[in-house]
Amino acid sequence: MDAEITVIGAGVLGLAIARDLSEESQGVFVIEKNFRFGQETSSRNSEVIHSGVYYPPGSLKATLCVEGKWMLYDFLEQYDIAHKKCGKLVVAVSEEETGRMKEVWDISGKNGVTDREWLNRKGIESLEPHIRAVAAIHFPSTGILDSHGLMKQLEALARIRGAEFVYGARVTGIERLKAGYRITLADADGSPFKFTSRKVINAAGLEADRVAALDGTRMPGDEIHFWKGQYFRVTCGKHRYINRLIYPLPDPDHISLGLHATIDLNGQMKLGPDAVYLPERKIDYRVDPADASRFFEAAGKYLPFLEENDLIPDQAGIRPKLQKPGGRVRDWVIRDEGPRGYPGRINLIGMDSPALTACLAIARYVKNLIFAKP
Ligand SMILES: Cc1cc2nc3c(=O)[nH]c(=O)nc-3n(C[C@H](O)[C@H](O)[C@H](O)COP(=O)(O)OP(=O)(O)OC[C@H]3O[C@@H](n4cnc5c(N)ncnc54)[C@H](O)[C@@H]3O)c2cc1C
Repeated sequence: MDAEITVIGAGVLGLAIARDLSEESQGVFVIEKNFRFGQETSSRNSEVIHSGVYYPPGSLKATLCVEGKWMLYDFLEQYDIAHKKCGKLVVAVSEEETGRMKEVWDISGKNGVTDREWLNRKGIESLEPHIRAVAAIHFPSTGILDSHGLMKQLEALARIRGAEFVYGARVTGIERLKAGYRITLADADGSPFKFTSRKVINAAGLEADRVAALDGTRMPGDEIHFWKGQYFRVTCGKHRYINRLIYPLPDPDHISLGLHATIDLNGQMKLGPDAVYLPERKIDYRVDPADASRFFEAAGKYLPFLEENDLIPDQAGIRPKLQKPGGRVRDWVIRDEGPRGYPGRINLIGMDSPALTACLAIARYVKNLIFAKP
């Protein structure tokens, strides 16, 4: 075998997995089609360390988010990577919403997020005097981080432990052999080359279902749907009006967490992301300036100091969701294909939020699958 373990994709998940596996094994290779790590979803998100509030109890999202956020805080401390445990408020702006917010309270408790506080108007005023809400839940364990710093550190640790990174190479074929797999790559000018690997992990983000299809491990229900999330930056010094992240109630269909207000490590404030379905699965990171009024209307409900002119288009990212429009809420797929006759083959599909928060817990989960005794 040319390689022991090949990881496809150098987003935050591929990097975290490579760092963990290289602790146990030599011959770890990471293959990435872009010329650098983290050029896709991992660098186009809110950079929020989620507390694990909304996900269905018992799901991978719930358990790995709650576990992963503490692992992540420890890691960020250990390697001195910029972050801030600023906390967040989930707010209700009407009595009807207060009723719905009880669900958030119940689910967060079931998920083990017990460091939370129900606030009435007075409590809200003492924390966030400039927002409008009739009730709120304060989650102090939510935070923000420098996701580029995190990825850089993960890549460095993987390299120090012997992992090799091949950038500018797209995986175009995976063929199962008697033992292991033959992987075909195409470089920037399209010329193919091949190598063999005993184990293969697919962490290909937006293309993970297509990569799984290369060796027939894709299953019905694995199809990824693109949901774009746009952001608008809030200017005119208005960032000074909030001290922590402010979230409305999540969308009833759970496609997004609701159009929220985040602050970044420089203290700047952003609104978003929204959720726009891209039926053609084409990467499109444009932000439509005409959407400012929709953002203003949604966020203005809880940020009364906002004016439409404060908003300027910022970045966009694309969620690789298993949930289609009108479809049911889906958990992540982290599947060991060994029992189906593909030993050492693992697929990670539909790794949408909170996979940045959970990246270290996901990596440990994958490591346990890879080194499990047969
Ligand atoms: C708008 C938005 C906001 C979000 N906010 C948060 C948040 O605040 N907190 C949080 O925890 N999560 C958040 N997320 C989710 C989080 O960003 C993702 O879950 C996470 O980044 C997924 O990482 P990944 O490594 O799986 O994917 P990616 O970063 O997409 O990496 C996959 C990599 O695989 C490569 N690749 C694909 N196909 C091939 C191939 N055939 N050959 C070689 N390489 C290939 C790609 O080039 C890419 O680099 C958000 C996501 C979005 C879109």
